[in-house]
Amino acid sequence: MTAHFLIAGAGIGGLGAALALGQIGCQVTVLEQSAVFSEVGAGLQISPNAYKVLNDWGLADVLTQTANFPQMLQVRDGLTDKLLGQLTQGATAQARYGYPFATLHRADLHGLLLQAVRQLSNVSLHVSAKVSEIIESNQQVTVKTEAGESFTADALIGADGLWSHVRQHLSGDAAPRATGHTAWRALLPLSDVPPELQQDKVTAWLAPDSHTIAYPVQQGKMLNLVYCCENDSNFKGKKTLQPAYLLPEQLSKSLKNLLKIASNTQLWTRWDLFDRPPIASSAEMFNPAHPRIALLGDAAHPMLPYLAQGAAMALEDVQALAMSVQNSGENLPAAFQHYAQSRWQRNAAVQTRASQNGVIFHAKPPVSWARNAAMGLLGEKLLDMPWLYGYATPVKSTF
Ligand SMILES: Cc1cc2nc3c(=O)[nH]c(=O)nc-3n(C[C@H](O)[C@H](O)[C@H](O)COP(=O)(O)OP(=O)(O)OC[C@H]3O[C@@H](n4cnc5c(N)ncnc54)[C@H](O)[C@@H]3O)c2cc1C
Repeated sequence: MTAHFLIAGAGIGGLGAALALGQIGCQVTVLEQSAVFSEVGAGLQISPNAYKVLNDWGLADVLTQTANFPQMLQVRDGLTDKLLGQLTQGATAQARYGYPFATLHRADLHGLLLQAVRQLSNVSLHVSAKVSEIIESNQQVTVKTEAGESFTADALIGADGLWSHVRQHLSGDAAPRATGHTAWRALLPLSDVPPELQQDKVTAWLAPDSHTIAYPVQQGKMLNLVYCCENDSNFKGKKTLQPAYLLPEQLSKSLKNLLKIASNTQLWTRWDLFDRPPIASSAEMFNPAHPRIALLGDAAHPMLPYLAQGAAMALEDVQALAMSVQNSGENLPAAFQHYAQSRWQRNAAVQTRASQNGVIFHAKPPVSWARNAAMGLLGEKLLDMPWLYGYATPVKSTF
């Protein structure tokens, strides 16, 4: 492949794209607005469908050196702590899907991708390079950065996240929507939390208007804790969470105790959650009026994190995009069109399910009673999602 790509954004999607396109021999120039390559200090669940992509890129060995491999997902009632349902992960998921569930510190995954990309001589990386202007011609795309630099290539990939400048250039559509939900994130030394949370498992507590997720990362050194809530008007404008305005009284004692550990040490960081309505057509990932530009990851389909799939979908996008490019005979507009057509419905389905999970997770009585009863009856059948975890990005394109 001789094609040259510009990639706006060096998050998990942008670095993944640099790696996948670099590995098939393309020339790649990555432009990142920040002064350093970095990720937020929080955890990430990597489900088998995303693990498969990382494995295909040759990262499985290094992943095992940094990831945790949970044996179980347990869902509990946030008011009583009662176990509502569980999904066996570990070897069972590995046997079912071919790849495991993993939990990681984001910086570890980002670092792995960066390290792999740096080994490719055909990929160049630029920081302090905020894409601010895009100029298209028949055969090329030129990008100008805020610092006044100019880069030209055969095509541009917008992997520039929720507030994507590339998306604005393509469609000029409305800004992402504020959901009114907030995620409070903390990383605690594992030795500070109760013994039952020191095991390799993911625990979710569901309560009216909130849910909490906890799982170990960094090979069991830290516990990643996320408290998601709705209508948190008490918290408006506050960047750190203090015990005084934390937590409805109704949460179970053990859950409150866990959340207080983080509050006492003021470890919380606040993350207001935005999304977009599910993608309605392939034009939201590739607009034929701009034939040398494609979008991926949060730039194309931001979603609530309630299915733990935003990064997974970015990785799946990248895999499909690289495959389409490889099979396109260097016809990049055709490759982008094929990519968008192969991906938009999958992304729409995942966005939809993520929003639905918000309603189910945060249900109040009597709906929560029905949810709890269904989980008790159906257990794994409800929590396992073969359509999601068993998805294999196509290996052969059909042009
Ligand atoms: C609380 C929470 C928990 C989550 N948990 C999970 C999980 O468990 N599993 C999962 O799969 N997903 C999870 N997600 C979703 C996941 O974090 C995102 O979907 C994913 O990080 C998106 O990656 P991206 O590369 O598309 O975008 P980003 O990570 O947003 O990267 C975009 C990059 O582009 C850069 N950029 C922006 N504008 C410009 C510009 N104009 N020029 C140059 N660079 C630019 C940014 O600086 C950034 O580096 C979670 C999200 C949240 C909020």
